[in-house]
Amino acid sequence: MPLMITEDCIACGACEPVCPNKGIRKSGVVYVIDRDSCTECVGFFSKQQCVVVCPMDCCGPIPGVVLTEEALFERARAIHANSHLQPTLTEQTSHFRATANRNSQTTASRRKWWQWLFWREEGSEPCSSVPANVAESG
Ligand code: SF4
Repeated sequence: MPLMITEDCIACGACEPVCPNKGIRKSGVVYVIDRDSCTECVGFFSKQQCVVVCPMDCCGPIPGVVLTEEALFERARAIHANSHLQPTLTEQTSHFRATANRNSQTTASRRKWWQWLFWREEGSEPCSSVPANVAESG
C-alpha cells in the first residue's frame, strides 16, 4: 500500500529527505506524499523510511490501495530509470522479503500498523483490539 500522511503532521520535515523517490514535499502547513511516487521503499529499504522517522506516527497506508511487490518494484525502476542508484530486490531492500527484519520488529510497531489499517478503514477511533496472532507474535 502506498503511504499517506495524515492531518496529525506537525511539519517537522523529517520524512522529506529520507524518501528514496523524492516523493514527499511540503504542501501548505503539512507534508504530503505523492502516491504515484511511493514504492513503500521497495527497491531500497526493508522498512518504509517515512514511517521509521516520523515522530507523530502519521505516515500510514492509503486505505483500499494495495500494490504487489512486483508493481512497486517496477515503479521504483521507472522512477530511477536514469539514476546511477538502481533498485534491487533483497531482504534488505524490500519489506516483502525482510523476514528476518520482520521477526525482530517489536510488537508495538506491529500494533501501530494494525491500528492504522483498522482506523483508516473504519474511519473511527484507533482500534484497541489487535488480532491475537499479531499481538502475540514477535
Ligand atoms: Fe517515500 Fe518510502 Fe515513505 Fe513511500 S514509504 S513515501 S517511498 S519514504
